[in-house]
Amino acid sequence: MQAKKRFGQNFLQDPGIIAQIIDAIRPQTHQMLVEIGPGRGALTEHLARGHQPFSVIELDRDLIPGLRQKLPDSVNIIEADVLKYDFSHFSMPLFVVGNLPYNISTPLLFKLFEQTPKPERMIFMLQREVVNRLVANPGSKAYGRLSVMAQYHCGVTKVLDVPANAFNPAPKVDSAVVELQPHRTQVHDTTEPKLLSEVLVSAFGKRRKTLRNALSHLITAEELSSMDIDPTLRAEALTVKQFIDCANFLRASRQ
Ligand code: SAM
Repeated sequence: MQAKKRFGQNFLQDPGIIAQIIDAIRPQTHQMLVEIGPGRGALTEHLARGHQPFSVIELDRDLIPGLRQKLPDSVNIIEADVLKYDFSHFSMPLFVVGNLPYNISTPLLFKLFEQTPKPERMIFMLQREVVNRLVANPGSKAYGRLSVMAQYHCGVTKVLDVPANAFNPAPKVDSAVVELQPHRTQVHDTTEPKLLSEVLVSAFGKRRKTLRNALSHLITAEELSSMDIDPTLRAEALTVKQFIDCANFLRASRQ
């Protein structure tokens, strides 16, 4: 059966890379392991040997019979679109993993970030450029909305780089594996992700402008200074904490 482009199917074929990913995934006994997009089972067969309870969510119905054949009956195979799937069906703390279809990776990350309760851990294969954005620090070119939102919700660590030839068919871009560990208690002063998002859209939407100009419709230069934020800086210089201060300021000013 040919790989389907519309489902983002690039199947892992490199045993060394598969072994390294499996090694990084060490679920604890109280966790439900959930794999998104098991495909032909490159990771799934190994994961099924090591842990129960284990569920997989696959959209392509043509792959389901092959999975049923390969996997022990104890694996819960769910035929569904993960973007529409209600994770509250799972009653245990979640460890979510997968070599994700790249076309849905950003909306899926946001769905999981905003999930209650949050997964305890996540390990995903993503486009390398996206992983570099997730882990980026202030001052770097890759630092932007995705970095701030991900780091607001989670501790983020790159696990390994994966070359395109580890897959069949090989994607046009390189990949990387990332670990996301949602904060158990909010490490930053609480704010509403919606307001944080509003600040980030304005600040990074006009990346080359100073904050004084990019945020002028939301926060004045004087108000930025009062939060110890230099209004002549650009968005890429601000820490996650400083963006959260801006969002909290907006919340207070709108009450
Ligand atoms: N895990 C396999 C591997 O590493 O070889 C396959 C990875 S492939 C990059 C992505 C998998 O996600 C495919 O099996 C694809 O059919 C599945 N998929 C695509 N969109 C999906 C969705 N919305 N919900 C669930 N699975 C999806």
